[in-house]
Amino acid sequence: MKYFVHESSYIDEGVKIGDGTKIWHFTHVLGGASIGANCSLGQNVSIGNNVIIGNGVKIQNNVSVYEGVELEDYVFCGPSMVFTNDLTPRSKYPKGQEGYLRTKVKEGASIGANATIVCGHTIGRWAMIASGAVVTKDVPDHALMVGVPAQQIGWVCECGKTLSKAYTCPECGITYGQLAGGWDGI
Ligand SMILES: [Zn+2]
Repeated sequence: MKYFVHESSYIDEGVKIGDGTKIWHFTHVLGGASIGANCSLGQNVSIGNNVIIGNGVKIQNNVSVYEGVELEDYVFCGPSMVFTNDLTPRSKYPKGQEGYLRTKVKEGASIGANATIVCGHTIGRWAMIASGAVVTKDVPDHALMVGVPAQQIGWVCECGKTLSKAYTCPECGITYGQLAGGWDGI
Protein backbone atom coordinates (compact mmCIF):
# COMPACT_ATOMS: atom_id res chain seq x y z
CA MET A 1 0.00 0.00 0.00
CA LYS A 2 1.58 3.23 -1.14
CA TYR A 3 -0.93 5.50 0.60
CA PHE A 4 -1.75 6.16 4.26
CA VAL A 5 -5.08 5.68 6.02
CA HIS A 6 -5.32 6.36 9.76
CA GLU A 7 -6.70 3.42 11.71
CA SER A 8 -9.76 5.45 12.81
CA SER A 9 -10.96 5.86 9.20
CA TYR A 10 -13.14 3.61 7.03
CA ILE A 11 -12.54 2.85 3.36
CA ASP A 12 -15.43 0.95 1.75
CA GLU A 13 -15.26 -1.70 -0.96
CA GLY A 14 -14.32 -0.70 -4.46
CA VAL A 15 -12.52 2.53 -3.57
CA LYS A 16 -9.43 3.57 -5.55
CA ILE A 17 -6.71 5.58 -3.81
CA GLY A 18 -3.57 6.85 -5.55
CA ASP A 19 0.00 6.65 -4.33
CA GLY A 20 1.16 9.15 -1.75
CA THR A 21 -2.35 10.09 -0.60
CA LYS A 22 -2.90 10.60 3.15
CA ILE A 23 -6.26 10.08 4.84
CA TRP A 24 -6.33 11.31 8.43
CA HIS A 25 -8.57 10.67 11.45
CA PHE A 26 -12.29 9.78 11.45
CA THR A 27 -12.76 9.93 7.70
CA HIS A 28 -15.11 7.75 5.63
CA VAL A 29 -14.70 7.03 1.92
CA LEU A 30 -17.81 5.38 0.45
CA GLY A 31 -17.93 2.70 -2.22
CA GLY A 32 -16.92 3.43 -5.77
CA ALA A 33 -15.09 6.65 -4.93
CA SER A 34 -11.83 7.34 -6.72
CA ILE A 35 -9.13 9.47 -5.09
CA GLY A 36 -6.00 10.39 -7.04
CA ALA A 37 -2.36 10.46 -6.01
CA ASN A 38 -0.76 12.79 -3.45
CA CYS A 39 -4.04 13.98 -1.95
CA SER A 40 -4.59 14.96 1.68
CA LEU A 41 -7.92 14.34 3.41
CA GLY A 42 -8.12 15.89 6.86
CA GLN A 43 -10.03 14.91 9.95
CA ASN A 44 -13.76 14.12 9.78
CA VAL A 45 -14.00 14.11 5.99
CA SER A 46 -16.70 12.17 4.13
CA ILE A 47 -16.37 11.16 0.47
CA GLY A 48 -19.62 9.99 -1.12
CA ASN A 49 -20.32 7.04 -3.39
CA ASN A 50 -18.70 7.26 -6.83
CA VAL A 51 -17.10 10.67 -6.18
CA ILE A 52 -14.10 11.38 -8.42
CA ILE A 53 -11.18 13.30 -6.95
CA GLY A 54 -8.07 14.14 -9.00
CA ASN A 55 -4.41 14.31 -7.99
CA GLY A 56 -2.88 16.68 -5.45
CA VAL A 57 -6.24 17.64 -3.93
CA LYS A 58 -6.32 18.97 -0.36
CA ILE A 59 -9.48 18.61 1.71
CA GLN A 60 -9.38 20.22 5.14
CA ASN A 61 -11.26 19.11 8.26
CA ASN A 62 -15.03 18.58 8.35
CA VAL A 63 -15.79 18.53 4.62
CA SER A 64 -18.37 16.22 3.00
CA VAL A 65 -17.91 15.65 -0.74
CA TYR A 66 -21.31 14.26 -1.69
CA GLU A 67 -22.17 12.05 -4.63
CA GLY A 68 -22.48 14.22 -7.74
CA VAL A 69 -19.42 16.34 -6.90
CA GLU A 70 -16.19 16.05 -8.90
CA LEU A 71 -12.88 17.64 -7.90
CA GLU A 72 -10.16 17.99 -10.54
CA ASP A 73 -6.42 18.08 -9.84
CA TYR A 74 -5.07 20.45 -7.15
CA VAL A 75 -8.43 21.61 -5.86
CA PHE A 76 -8.33 23.00 -2.30
CA CYS A 77 -11.35 22.63 0.00
CA GLY A 78 -11.03 24.79 3.11
CA PRO A 79 -12.13 23.65 6.56
CA SER A 80 -15.86 23.08 7.03
CA MET A 81 -16.80 24.22 3.53
CA VAL A 82 -20.05 22.74 2.26
CA PHE A 83 -21.15 21.00 -0.94
CA THR A 84 -24.76 20.04 -1.66
CA ASN A 85 -26.33 17.77 -4.27
CA ASP A 86 -30.06 18.55 -4.07
CA LEU A 87 -31.53 22.01 -4.76
CA THR A 88 -34.94 21.32 -3.24
CA PRO A 89 -34.58 18.57 -0.67
CA ARG A 90 -37.64 17.06 0.98
CA SER A 91 -37.37 14.28 3.50
CA LYS A 92 -40.76 12.96 2.42
CA TYR A 93 -39.95 13.00 -1.32
CA PRO A 94 -36.40 11.73 -1.76
CA LYS A 95 -35.10 12.05 -5.32
CA GLY A 96 -32.51 9.31 -5.14
CA GLN A 97 -29.28 9.11 -7.04
CA GLU A 98 -30.80 10.22 -10.36
CA GLY A 99 -32.02 13.45 -8.81
CA TYR A 100 -28.62 14.68 -7.71
CA LEU A 101 -27.31 17.79 -9.45
CA ARG A 102 -23.69 17.67 -10.49
CA THR A 103 -21.05 20.07 -9.26
CA LYS A 104 -17.62 20.29 -10.83
CA VAL A 105 -14.62 22.05 -9.35
CA LYS A 106 -11.98 22.48 -12.02
CA GLU A 107 -8.22 22.24 -11.78
CA GLY A 108 -6.50 24.32 -9.13
CA ALA A 109 -9.60 26.08 -7.78
CA SER A 110 -9.65 26.97 -4.05
CA ILE A 111 -12.70 27.13 -1.80
CA GLY A 112 -12.31 29.05 1.46
CA ALA A 113 -13.27 27.98 4.96
CA ASN A 114 -16.98 27.71 5.61
CA ALA A 115 -17.97 28.59 2.01
CA THR A 116 -21.00 26.88 0.46
CA ILE A 117 -21.20 25.68 -3.15
CA VAL A 118 -24.85 25.30 -4.16
CA CYS A 119 -25.12 22.21 -6.36
CA GLY A 120 -25.38 22.18 -10.15
CA HIS A 121 -22.56 24.64 -10.78
CA THR A 122 -19.03 24.60 -12.15
CA ILE A 123 -16.14 26.38 -10.47
CA GLY A 124 -13.58 27.39 -13.12
CA ARG A 125 -9.90 26.61 -13.16
CA TRP A 126 -7.82 28.44 -10.53
CA ALA A 127 -10.85 30.34 -9.23
CA MET A 128 -10.70 31.56 -5.63
CA ILE A 129 -13.81 31.39 -3.45
CA ALA A 130 -13.53 33.50 -0.30
CA SER A 131 -14.24 32.20 3.17
CA GLY A 132 -17.94 32.13 3.91
CA ALA A 133 -19.02 32.87 0.33
CA VAL A 134 -22.16 31.19 -1.01
CA VAL A 135 -21.73 30.30 -4.69
CA THR A 136 -25.07 30.22 -6.54
CA LYS A 137 -23.91 30.31 -10.20
CA ASP A 138 -21.09 29.12 -12.44
CA VAL A 139 -17.72 30.70 -11.68
CA PRO A 140 -15.31 31.67 -14.53
CA ASP A 141 -11.69 30.54 -14.59
CA HIS A 142 -9.44 32.65 -12.31
CA ALA A 143 -12.40 34.55 -10.80
CA LEU A 144 -12.26 35.86 -7.22
CA MET A 145 -15.67 35.42 -5.60
CA VAL A 146 -16.79 36.86 -2.26
CA GLY A 147 -19.97 37.31 -0.25
CA VAL A 148 -23.50 35.98 -0.02
CA PRO A 149 -24.55 35.36 -2.72
CA ALA A 150 -21.01 35.31 -4.10
CA GLN A 151 -20.08 38.14 -6.48
CA GLN A 152 -16.95 38.47 -8.55
CA ILE A 153 -14.67 41.24 -7.30
CA GLY A 154 -11.53 40.45 -9.31
CA TRP A 155 -9.24 37.88 -10.83
CA VAL A 156 -6.53 35.72 -9.35
CA CYS A 157 -3.32 34.29 -10.71
CA GLU A 158 -2.59 30.58 -10.68
CA CYS A 159 -0.32 31.36 -7.70
CA GLY A 160 -3.25 32.82 -5.75
CA LYS A 161 -2.42 36.55 -5.85
CA THR A 162 -5.01 39.03 -7.07
CA LEU A 163 -4.29 40.34 -10.58
CA SER A 164 -3.92 44.04 -11.37
CA LYS A 165 -6.34 45.84 -13.69
CA ALA A 166 -3.94 44.92 -16.51
CA TYR A 167 -4.38 41.25 -15.57
CA THR A 168 -0.79 41.07 -14.31
CA CYS A 169 0.26 39.13 -11.23
CA PRO A 170 2.30 41.28 -8.80
CA GLU A 171 4.06 38.15 -7.57
CA CYS A 172 5.06 36.23 -10.69
CA GLY A 173 4.70 38.97 -13.31
CA ILE A 174 2.53 36.83 -15.58
CA THR A 175 0.02 38.81 -17.65
CA TYR A 176 -3.22 37.08 -18.46
CA GLY A 177 -4.33 39.76 -20.95
CA GLN A 178 -4.33 37.49 -23.95
CA LEU A 179 -6.56 35.08 -22.05
CA ALA A 180 -8.97 37.80 -21.02
CA GLY A 181 -11.73 37.00 -23.52
CA GLY A 182 -14.98 37.29 -21.63
CA TRP A 183 -13.21 38.75 -18.64
CA ASP A 184 -14.73 42.22 -18.86
CA GLY A 185 -17.63 41.72 -16.52
CA ILE A 186 -16.01 43.67 -13.66
ZN1 LIG B 1 1.09 34.82 -9.72
